[in-house]
Amino acid sequence: MKVPLLDLKPQYLVLKKEIDEAIQRVVDSQFFINGPDVAKLEEEINSYLGVKYSVGVSSGTDALLLALMALNIKPGDEVIVPTYSFFATAGVVARLNAVPVFVDSDPVTFNINPALIEKKITPKTKVIIPVHLYGQSAEMKAIMEIAKRHNLKVVEDCAQAIGVQYKDGKYVGGIGDIGCFSFFPSKNLGGFGDAGICTTNDEKLYKAMKMMRMHGMEPKYYHKIIGGNFRIDTLQAAVLRVKLPHLDSWSAKRRENAALYTEYFLSSGLAETEGNISFDEMNKVLLPKAVYSNAGHKNYHIYNQYIIRVEKRNALWDFLKKKDIGCEVYYPVPFHRQECFEYLNCNDEEYPIANCAANDSLALPIYPELTNAQIKYVVDSISEFMKEEMKYPMECKHCDCMK
Ligand SMILES: *Cc1c(COP(=O)(O)O)cnc(C)c1O
Repeated sequence: MKVPLLDLKPQYLVLKKEIDEAIQRVVDSQFFINGPDVAKLEEEINSYLGVKYSVGVSSGTDALLLALMALNIKPGDEVIVPTYSFFATAGVVARLNAVPVFVDSDPVTFNINPALIEKKITPKTKVIIPVHLYGQSAEMKAIMEIAKRHNLKVVEDCAQAIGVQYKDGKYVGGIGDIGCFSFFPSKNLGGFGDAGICTTNDEKLYKAMKMMRMHGMEPKYYHKIIGGNFRIDTLQAAVLRVKLPHLDSWSAKRRENAALYTEYFLSSGLAETEGNISFDEMNKVLLPKAVYSNAGHKNYHIYNQYIIRVEKRNALWDFLKKKDIGCEVYYPVPFHRQECFEYLNCNDEEYPIANCAANDSLALPIYPELTNAQIKYVVDSISEFMKEEMKYPMECKHCDCMK
């Protein structure tokens, strides 16, 4: 049986007629830049997320860059980011000649650990960028309190988390000063190419981002501030407007798939409980945990990724490849170990959780259209691997996280 990590075709086929019509409408109008679909998408995102303003942009990366530019981040300013995320979260900081300051992860969610943030704050710190990794919210209450205490801004990296509600029911992207979303095709709401959006409840930041999206131009050819070309294509906005009304049902399907994985893993005896953080028995798989699933609202986790942890991760990955099962590692190298950040002279020992995550985590297929049979096949294949390969006592070679 073939189980790809992600298959975008079934989703397109269901919406093909509407999407093709939306694209044709833009093509017929020849209004490719700032067409009416852009403003409409922004309004629809505002009402979906319950935010006042949003600015469609060219990618999730540019959303983060634009957010930092609108917050006037200057060379030498420090920006606190988790060490475990997609590269863009730290890359945008360095591109402004500001200094990314890395913080280790929470052992259950792999989100930034708020308890480790304050000791990284200096007089140069300006912004904290929590990432809502894999589709569940970072611990925003603690993060917002720290930010308030030290007069810092908060930019939420929501690239993997569109439609996620924090434990109080508020949507991520409307909690900090600016929310940054990606519509990269593999995200839960994906365009037909690169696109993204910035959200805010602050009118001043909204106006700054809107001007900076067009080279800081207002009126035409007069530039009060320096921006860039950060525009979203009208074509992308048109496609995304067709998809947005379906997002919640896709997220629900992802949660159902996650629940099925958990059920199969538990009933096969391969795993004990969700959110277990230590390999204290042989032949165990550690399952992800939705930490706000009891909060009483539906979008507590949207499972952009379903991440298990296993010893001998690379061997399992190879084994599953041979079984035609697509998997991926998000991410094999935390920021503090990246070659391009060598100049920051990070202390590797400060990041035991991220280092372990990089070594033992594996993303399984979780997209909405997966069948129960496919999910069962993935778990059965992992079970087969464990029985054959894992007959030895386990220990973490990097730290004592498993003791
Ligand atoms: C995908 C992603 C980005 C970047 O989005 P692009 O649209 O690919 O530029 C930023 N941060 C995180 C956490 C992401 O997953």
